[in-house]
Amino acid sequence: MNRRTFFVLLGVPGAGKGTQAKLLEDRLGIPQISTGDIFRYNLKNETELGILAKSYMDKGELVPDEVTIRMVEDRLTQPDAKGGAILDGFPRNLVQAQAFDKITEPYGGVSLVPLIHISDEEAMRRITGRRVCRSCGAVYHVEFNKPKVADVCDLDGGELYQRNDDKPDTVRNRLYVYYKQTSPLIGYYFAKELLVELDGNRPIDQVQDELMGLLGERDAVA
Ligand code: ADP
Ligand code: ADP
Repeated sequence: MNRRTFFVLLGVPGAGKGTQAKLLEDRLGIPQISTGDIFRYNLKNETELGILAKSYMDKGELVPDEVTIRMVEDRLTQPDAKGGAILDGFPRNLVQAQAFDKITEPYGGVSLVPLIHISDEEAMRRITGRRVCRSCGAVYHVEFNKPKVADVCDLDGGELYQRNDDKPDTVRNRLYVYYKQTSPLIGYYFAKELLVELDGNRPIDQVQDELMGLLGERDAVA
């Protein structure tokens, strides 16, 4: 069987999934697949998918499962995912998790599910201070992870902006959606003996080191 490695990052919005996944890509040699990033890319390019997703994203609601699952399935057929992927923001409910189990079954299923813990207060601080590069999507924070020059991306000089859904009212609804729809996945993956929990309330490089220890090990046996 053609085995692949699939890591699913879980945690409230703002936990640091995207930040960690971007760092892990290079070190593990498998791509980050962020459904949020793919939706935002489509939004920027005004595709049909982007226009559909916008109405849900602006309210902090989930984009319908059928569309989201098809999008991930399609992304996984691209050559860079032949060794697997780091899933960031997917699956986000039980229907998506079950669909992802089916998709990955031929490759040995999900390998490991790290859950990054932070408090809701910390999530609010992180999301409302988050800034994103308009051209490459790199993620910064106005206080905790500043770019070298204010409002300019260190990597490509792109302009940093605040996501429309990172304003306080939408953030509260996203946290609510997380607890209602996404948090049941904690039990789902615990029962499959795939869950590992990490304290996300530490500096980025410390969380990264712990993740690398956990994932690197699992990667080697996969
Ligand atoms: P998620 O993908 O889980 O929503 P992000 O990776 O986008 O989270 O991080 C949310 C915000 O918090 C960003 O502004 C990021 O720079 C910042 N951040 C990420 N990890 C940490 C950390 N360990 N300590 C402080 N700030 C962090
Ligand atoms: P965060 O990590 O801060 O929650 P994301 O970039 O992952 O932000 O997601 C932004 C928005 O994109 C979500 O609020 C939702 O509207 C949409 N989205 C992302 N991933 C999914 C998914 N797996 N299913 C449905 N909607 C999604």
